[in-house]
Amino acid sequence: MSAPGRPASLEGAVIRRGDPGYETCRAGELWNELKPQRYPEVIVRAAGERDVPEALRLARSRGLRVAVRAGGHSWCGSPLRDGTLLLDLSGLNRRRIDADSATATVQPGVIGSRFALELARRGLGFAAGHCPSVALGGYLLSGGLGWNSRLWGPGCAAVEEITAVTADGEVVRCSEDEHPGLFWAARGAGPGFFAVVTAFRLRLHPFPGALATTSYVFPLTAVGPVAGWVTETAPELPANVEVSFVLAAGDASRTAVTVTVSATAFADSRPQAVRDLAPLHDVPLGDQALSRRVDEPSSLGALYDAAACLWPERHRYAADTLWSHLDYASLLAAMGEALTAAPSRKSIVLAPVSPVSRQETVARSMAFSVLGDSYVVPYAIWDAPSDDDDNVRWLRETMRTVEPYGTGHYIAEADLTADPCRARRSFTPADWQRLEALRAAYDPQGLFCSYLSA
Ligand SMILES: Cc1cc2nc3c(=O)[nH]c(=O)nc-3n(C[C@H](O)[C@H](O)[C@H](O)COP(=O)(O)OP(=O)(O)OC[C@H]3O[C@@H](n4cnc5c(N)ncnc54)[C@H](O)[C@@H]3O)c2cc1C
Repeated sequence: MSAPGRPASLEGAVIRRGDPGYETCRAGELWNELKPQRYPEVIVRAAGERDVPEALRLARSRGLRVAVRAGGHSWCGSPLRDGTLLLDLSGLNRRRIDADSATATVQPGVIGSRFALELARRGLGFAAGHCPSVALGGYLLSGGLGWNSRLWGPGCAAVEEITAVTADGEVVRCSEDEHPGLFWAARGAGPGFFAVVTAFRLRLHPFPGALATTSYVFPLTAVGPVAGWVTETAPELPANVEVSFVLAAGDASRTAVTVTVSATAFADSRPQAVRDLAPLHDVPLGDQALSRRVDEPSSLGALYDAAACLWPERHRYAADTLWSHLDYASLLAAMGEALTAAPSRKSIVLAPVSPVSRQETVARSMAFSVLGDSYVVPYAIWDAPSDDDDNVRWLRETMRTVEPYGTGHYIAEADLTADPCRARRSFTPADWQRLEALRAAYDPQGLFCSYLSA
């Protein structure tokens, strides 16, 4: 027999505010240990696709808005909203790979690294996110800056079709030909999307069989010339080479901030990978390098292991993003100075160089777009709840030093609690208008929560 007010046809667990275990369940909805003080009225853990329209019906009958969660990796905790029904899709984690047609159908709770590693074993590739534990749902909806995105485009460029449940409970297929507006929005709208995606059909690439990484670590004092050298050299690198800067304070024994330049080639053969990385062999500042690794063979598994170290589990996080037209030397100098004064030595700044193919982004019509020439993501990372205020303040102050040079944010990792305009500034003005018009058409009663703001 079903509990009072619970539709008998809903198979998944239903947890109400006030139920024993509610708080453990609420806190468990987010990967970040920093849990916002926002409380859904009901949490529904969907057992399958059929639970999605049922959960929407339940929300409507209770007069609740709906927030959605796939993998819970939103830094600012988008899925947790006051007075809502939180629809948890982590149980929708099936994937079907068709090697013959080089396509796959994935549900939103599929973990990106598991999928990408399985594809690689079958000689196929896809621009999954850098962090091993990120789920595909929120990642693909936001755009998705992932491995080899400089060549393959954002993760969402691979999406050919989605299955979605709209606010009125209708199950729709969306592609360039069917519901093209909803399909356009599903490729970039991120944590303000106004339907529930239950499946994505993806077009896959041949997996580049030989990966190699070159990396140099420099003291922060060299950041200007290092950034200048990398920026000048980057255009000589083929699109299948992914380059990024990481600013970090290092461990307790190496307290000074360092800048790591790391480049990974996704090539078809080992000799090709070495040729692809050749422009980075001559380092004008070589005598200042604290360490160097040149053309080291790598693998997707090794890249995921390294990424897991950047974002340790069971920590408290605050993150933000900035697209800018400022050169990397100036951006990184400002960020390095801020990091030197960070309250936590675990905090880092990432700056991928041209992280995503503009060509692939423009070729496919999508809500995601590249909003600047340079891109930077500061992460405050710490342990103790008593340090929350200091670290959040540090992140906000750090952003204030560079925001005057900003041209936008990336919706997946932007701190949507920092100000009410963060979401709007994550899109071009025309795309924002189109998104809001589509929201009004597909969700006229505002069943789904829109973007989080302060
Ligand atoms: C450690 C870490 C590393 C990261 N690395 C990268 C990276 O390399 N590249 C990158 O691009 N991003 C990265 N991100 C950001 C990440 O892509 C976004 O936070 C993304 O939203 C995570 O997906 P999720 O399914 O876990 O999101 P959730 O937190 O579950 O959901 C976030 C929001 O997305 C919407 N949503 C999710 N699924 C659905 C659905 N099926 N239907 C409708 N709406 C839905 C909802 O509005 C929800 O509130 C990283 C985040 C973390 C924590």
